[in-house]
Amino acid sequence: MSKAENLKKRHQAAITKGVGTRGIYAARAENAELWDVDGRRSSDFAAGIAVNNTGHRHPKVMAAVAEQAEAFTHTCFHVAPYEGYIRLAERLNEVAPINGPAKTMLVTTGAEAVENAIKVARCHTGRSAVIAFSGAFHGRTLMGMALTGKVTPYKKGFGPFPGDVFHAPFPNDFRGISVDAAISGLESLLATDVDPERVAAFIIEPVQGEGGFVPAPSEFLVRLREIADQYGILLIVDEIQSGMARTGRMFALEHAGVKADLVTMAKGLAGGFPLSAVVGRADVMDSANPGGLGGTYAGNPLAIAAANAVFDVIEEERLCDRARVIGETITARLNDLANRQGMDVIGQVRGPGAMVAFELVTDAENRTPNPALASAVVAEAEERGLIALVCGTGFNVVRLLPPLTISDEVLNEGLAILEAAIEAAVSKQIAA
Ligand code: PMP
Repeated sequence: MSKAENLKKRHQAAITKGVGTRGIYAARAENAELWDVDGRRSSDFAAGIAVNNTGHRHPKVMAAVAEQAEAFTHTCFHVAPYEGYIRLAERLNEVAPINGPAKTMLVTTGAEAVENAIKVARCHTGRSAVIAFSGAFHGRTLMGMALTGKVTPYKKGFGPFPGDVFHAPFPNDFRGISVDAAISGLESLLATDVDPERVAAFIIEPVQGEGGFVPAPSEFLVRLREIADQYGILLIVDEIQSGMARTGRMFALEHAGVKADLVTMAKGLAGGFPLSAVVGRADVMDSANPGGLGGTYAGNPLAIAAANAVFDVIEEERLCDRARVIGETITARLNDLANRQGMDVIGQVRGPGAMVAFELVTDAENRTPNPALASAVVAEAEERGLIALVCGTGFNVVRLLPPLTISDEVLNEGLAILEAAIEAAVSKQIAA
């Protein structure tokens, strides 16, 4: 029995099925490559779900963490605060797409950042309602689930959820939801379901992640900002998956030239260490009750050391520029494949920068989601040595999130594997 087979047996016996997993058991990883327990090498186009934007074990990140570990690993920021937290807050306040002066708080997971953004928005406005969007993903806590706009697997059986959460349509050209239609859906929600004077915040991903890498058109974000301003509603932008250089800008919202009142960040922030942030307008962030925000582990020193190093790496290695080049390389190759005979199952290739996905359909005309093909592509890729992930409300989108530090060699190798995996999955589906 291979080591992986053995681990799989122990895994299935010891760990709840509720924690879904893919099939590769990691032994070690370096930049954009990962080796499993049996020594099999894979190119990693998942990057721990957009976490390792600076690659696995970036030397600068590892050195910063090692140095911090020599000093202290935990004091609790509420008990004995430290400079790294302050330095990171200064840097986040500087770069976050917020109007005017900003302030920051750090927590540990993406869902926790979302929870805190909602708390702050409610405290500041004295209002309780929140409007999220269909297809959204905001985390697995109770409020995260309430805000999430995808039932299976995230919400199924886990309710009831916190109240006063509403969903408006998210624009999606490929699925026939225009910007005008989405705006009118929101306006009718405000007319029929919830008084805008009671709404604390809109929360939106500038590029829906789990929902299928669907970018919100700039025009939509501009109009959402206008409606928010009209009614005194705060705009929370969830950059947990799209932030930290992934889309070719530090934050995806920058593509639209719109400013948020609050921004949530996590994943790529700390290069593989658990850290998340809420950055917002200073007046909004300061309306929270002193002592009402934080937590025992919030702003872990090791994760903060990693995040400060990640900032340096993004600047020094010009990873925003690199994200654009990676995205263009992937997109060109996938479009080329999509134009070949028999490949009209690739319905759309989309996404800004290196946040690229392709949506699989049964045929070009009806655009019926093809989840079986998406999971077959990912399985074929995995067998050939490439890690990629499925997303989308119809489970029919394959997303590609290579580290932004990936070499051209590993990128092209991964793309060749992906192409072979798509061809194999398509021909097997035709044969079936
Ligand atoms: N928001 C978005 C946009 C996300 O992509 C995710 C994670 N996929 C979350 C929130 C939740 O983050 P976490 O899993 O760290 O709680």
